[in-house]
Amino acid sequence: MDMKNRIAEKFRTLFGTDGQFFASAGRINLIGEHTDYNGGYVFPGAIDKGIMAEIKVNGTAKVHAFSLDYDEYVEFGLKEEDKPAQSWACYIFGVCRETLKRGGKVEGFDVVFAGDVPLGAGLSSSAALESTMAYALNYIFSNGIDKFELAKIGQSTEHNYCGVKCGIMDQFASVFGKAGQLIRLNCKTLEYKYFPFNPQGYKLVLIDSCVKHELASSAYNKRRASCENAAAAIRKNHPEVEFLSDAKRVWLDEVRAEIPEEDFLRAEYVIGEVQRVLDVCDALERGDYETVGEMMYQTHFGLSRLYEVSCEELDFLNKLARKMDVTGSRVMGGGFGGCTINLVKDELYDGFVQAAVARFTEKFGHAPKVYDVVISDGARLLLDE
Ligand code: ADP
Ligand code: MG
Repeated sequence: MDMKNRIAEKFRTLFGTDGQFFASAGRINLIGEHTDYNGGYVFPGAIDKGIMAEIKVNGTAKVHAFSLDYDEYVEFGLKEEDKPAQSWACYIFGVCRETLKRGGKVEGFDVVFAGDVPLGAGLSSSAALESTMAYALNYIFSNGIDKFELAKIGQSTEHNYCGVKCGIMDQFASVFGKAGQLIRLNCKTLEYKYFPFNPQGYKLVLIDSCVKHELASSAYNKRRASCENAAAAIRKNHPEVEFLSDAKRVWLDEVRAEIPEEDFLRAEYVIGEVQRVLDVCDALERGDYETVGEMMYQTHFGLSRLYEVSCEELDFLNKLARKMDVTGSRVMGGGFGGCTINLVKDELYDGFVQAAVARFTEKFGHAPKVYDVVISDGARLLLDE
C-alpha cells in the first residue's frame, strides 16, 4: 500500500473521519557549502523524499498525533508547559507554539503522518516534518502567514524545542522548493532566485558513507573563527566587507602575510565557493551540466584540502567518482561524514553505484547507502489524485 493510503487508513481507524493531505520535502544543496555563516550563497532544492500528513481540526484543545513510522500515538496541549516527551512530537509541538507566538491561530487537531526521508542522513527529514506542519497549520487555520515566515517557524522550532541551532537553508528549501528548480539563497540579505535544474541524461545520486566523525562541532567553531579573523583583516583595507563573502580574492591576497596561513586557506575556500555558486547558476541557465559537475569537484577539493572538513571515506568516494568519469561529485553538508552528492550520466549510473558500494564496503567494512534524488516540490496541499 502506498504512503497516502496507509495514512488514510490509520486516520480513519483512529479518528473515524477524513482530513486534508499535506506534504513537504527533504533537500539537497547542490553547491555553496560553509557559505551560510559567511554571508554567502547556498543553492538548495527540495527532493522527491518527504513527509506526508493527513490533518483535521478536532474541536478540542488538544493535538492527537500518530507517527506511522514510529507506530506511536501522542496527545498534547498547546501551552508552553505541554511539551511532549517524544522527540518526533516535539517538532509538531514546536511548530504549533511558534505559529501561536507569531499571532497565528492553532487549536486542537488530529494528524497522522509518515515519511521517506532517511533520518540523520543530511537530507533534513526534520525540516520536511516542520514545513509540512507549518504549511498545514497555516492552511487549516487560515493564518495567512507568508512562506518565509513558515520557514522561520521551522527554524525556531529546531532552536527552541529540538535543541538544534540551525540556519535557515533547510526549512527555506523545504518550504520554497519547486520541481525542476534549485533556489539560490543569499544568506546575508535572504534574497533568493530560482534556477532551472533539469539534467536530461543525468541523475543525481547521494552515496551515504554512514560515518560521522566526532570532531565536527569543535572543528566547526574553529572554521568560523578563521573566517571571522580573515574578514576582520580584510575589513581594515576595505571597510565594506561585512562578511567574508563580501571580499574579493585579491583583497585576501593583500592580507596573506598578516593572518595565519590556516586562516588564509579557509578564506580562500569560502571566497572561491561564493564564486562557484554564481558560476553554477550561469551554467544552469545555459544547460551546461559539465561545468556544473566540474564546479562540484572544485568544491570537494576546497572542502578537503583548504577547508579541511572532509574525511577518508568521503575522499575515497569522490576519487572513485572522478576515476569513473562521473560528471560531478562532492561532499554535501558540514563534512566529517555524511554523503557525497554525485551528478552522473545515465549510462554510467549503474556501474558507478555498484562500484561505489562494492569498493567502499571492501575498504571500510560497511556498506554505504544510496539515495537517488529528483528535484521536486516543497510544502504543499495534496489534492485528490
Ligand atoms: P535530519 O538530518 O534528517 O534532519 P534530524 O536529527 O535533524 O535529522 O531529524 C530527525 C528527527 O526528525 C527524527 O529523530 C524524528 O524525531 C523526526 N522525523 C523525521 N522524519 C520523521 C518521520 N518520518 N516520522 C517521525 N519523525 C520523523
Ligand atoms: Mg534536521
